Amino acid sequence: MAFSLNSCPVIYRARYSQEGWKEEYLEKPHNTPEEEARLGGDEAAALMNSRNFFDDMPLVSYTTQYGLSCFEGLKALPQKDGGLAIFRPERNAARFNMSMKGLYMPPFPEDRFITAVKETVKRNAALGFSVSYKPEWEKNSFINADSIYIRPFTYSEGGIGVNISREPWVMVVISPVSAYFSAGTPDAVITERIRATPKGTGWIKAASNYTIAALAKHEAVEAGFIECIFLDAAERKYIEEGSSCNIFFYLKSGELATPELGDTILPGITRSSIIELARDRGIKVSERQIAIDEVIAEAKECFVSGTAAGATPLVSLTWQGKKTVFNNGKVGEITAELRDTLKGIQYGIIPDTKGWLVRVE
Ligand SMILES: *Cc1c(COP(=O)(O)O)cnc(C)c1O
Repeated sequence: MAFSLNSCPVIYRARYSQEGWKEEYLEKPHNTPEEEARLGGDEAAALMNSRNFFDDMPLVSYTTQYGLSCFEGLKALPQKDGGLAIFRPERNAARFNMSMKGLYMPPFPEDRFITAVKETVKRNAALGFSVSYKPEWEKNSFINADSIYIRPFTYSEGGIGVNISREPWVMVVISPVSAYFSAGTPDAVITERIRATPKGTGWIKAASNYTIAALAKHEAVEAGFIECIFLDAAERKYIEEGSSCNIFFYLKSGELATPELGDTILPGITRSSIIELARDRGIKVSERQIAIDEVIAEAKECFVSGTAAGATPLVSLTWQGKKTVFNNGKVGEITAELRDTLKGIQYGIIPDTKGWLVRVE
């Protein structure tokens, strides 16, 4: 159960037309989770395929032809005292709305987003598709803890001319997941590719942004790294982010620095949560330009952040063949503290004083 497509049977769909959004919950083929766990490889794959196939979706669409789509990623986390809670869904609702507006799609109401996400988790749990809390996770900072990954996304109406999507669908699928990055030393590399350009769509969680990210990540993994880090397009000098995560550096001066948001960086919800947690601890946090040269000379610790990644320490960063190792190759103190605080709040072992968790009743 790594980060793989293991979709639960109940899927939400809302279709937009002149009359507004028409919603439904589709129950795809399933057995009980226990019976499904006993299925052999081919049978399990056939079942997953039957859940992932829809007869009534247009084949030729602005999404399949031009990548015109946006998505979200959030998690429902099993709580120490039982049940599930979703981490800051109102932030994802707001960002999804912003993404849809940015792609000239009709906005999806934020309250509808939150209800759809909660209901999809709840209806699947009612069929037994859920995850439950294991105290053993506490020993290892929840690094391999399970959760339910929630993936809302848009899908366009049929069409072949280069165009915007006026009548998109919003779908929500969920899948149980554990760790995002595969095991191995978390070394990262600066890619020569450019993820986002000024005046482009880098600030939108757009599917099309992921073409370049996927190529760069593939190249990084082939070369033995777990992630690629992008530099800015204009000067090829300032750190931006990873393929699907933001990045932080803890500098020798005691400052926690992360690249400032602009139109080329995705405004991560984990990023803003970490900034808040660090400031609460009295750590000086700055959102500013960080040159690769500064990282090489000044960075003591480094980690990437995202819903799937949590806060994952990077042991090293390689640029133009030169490897910079952080904190002698060990997980840094500040990184570990922020990671553990975030995970602790998410799994309900540290009090949620900020109201970040929304219970799924
Ligand atoms: C989704 C995403 C992130 C992380 O955002 P979170 O809200 O923290 O999950 C960072 N960078 C990119 C490019 C992303 O798509």
